[in-house]
Amino acid sequence: MSDFEGLVAVVTGGASGIGLATATLLASRGATAVALDLEPGVEDPLVGIRTDVSDDESVKAAINEVVERFGRLDVVVNNAGIGAQGDVLANSDDEWSRVLDVNVLGMVRVSRAALPHLRRSPSAAIVNTCSIAAWAGLPQRALYSASKGAVYSLTLAMAADHVREGIRVNAVAPGTADTPWVGRLLDSAPDPAAERAALEARQPHGRLVSADEVAGAIAYLASPLSGSTAGTILAVDGGMHGLRLRPQ
Ligand code: NAD
Repeated sequence: MSDFEGLVAVVTGGASGIGLATATLLASRGATAVALDLEPGVEDPLVGIRTDVSDDESVKAAINEVVERFGRLDVVVNNAGIGAQGDVLANSDDEWSRVLDVNVLGMVRVSRAALPHLRRSPSAAIVNTCSIAAWAGLPQRALYSASKGAVYSLTLAMAADHVREGIRVNAVAPGTADTPWVGRLLDSAPDPAAERAALEARQPHGRLVSADEVAGAIAYLASPLSGSTAGTILAVDGGMHGLRLRPQ
């Protein structure tokens, strides 16, 4: 499949987990795929540009570099994100500001810098990485859930604002996915194997979501195959949202 042939895609957080799987998949389908990441150590054919989505100058410089080097920008995958644990008593104002700054404002900064270039693309798409946390009422995830709830609403608002100019905005909402992020969480548990088994049992399909499965959904929403889809939050969660199940 080479449906991204000739197109240029940027993926924030593209050096690890879901972002790396996405950049790799887009490149395999013909895109020039650029990982914008704090630690952009990616291998050929991916291109890495050191970028901090919480720093507007860094974002502007990265998008300018992409357009100068590759001549265009067609696809933006707003995927960089950080986690937080606990109820509303757990996190300080500074922690709230930091997580919202990366998870929400980061998407705004990248989209703002990219939109003038996307307007010139005949295949323009933005895909945001939301989360099941936006709607599942996960315990001990107040700050993270609020950040992903904002991503959900931001996606709908951006879709409404830009669909008539040919820029489709959608999101994926993964369930617990098998990425280095979750690996770090498991490693910090007293019994990582038991914790992993518990996480797997919590998924309706009895296993973690793979990064490649999320990447496949992102690639669909970024490709012309979804040319009539905008403002959709596509759950990739083993059916938790579609079946109206609660995390156990
Ligand atoms: P990951 O930690 O494996 O990868 C995240 C990448 O983002 C890293 O390479 C990191 O360097 C980069 N990053 C972090 N802060 C950044 C910043 N300020 N600027 C640029 N890059 C930055 O995580 P992942 O599990 O692949 O998660 C990717 C996205 O998926 C996140 O938005 C996360 O909220 C979302 N998500 C993950 C899961 C899951 O279970 N893993 C579930 C739902 C949603």
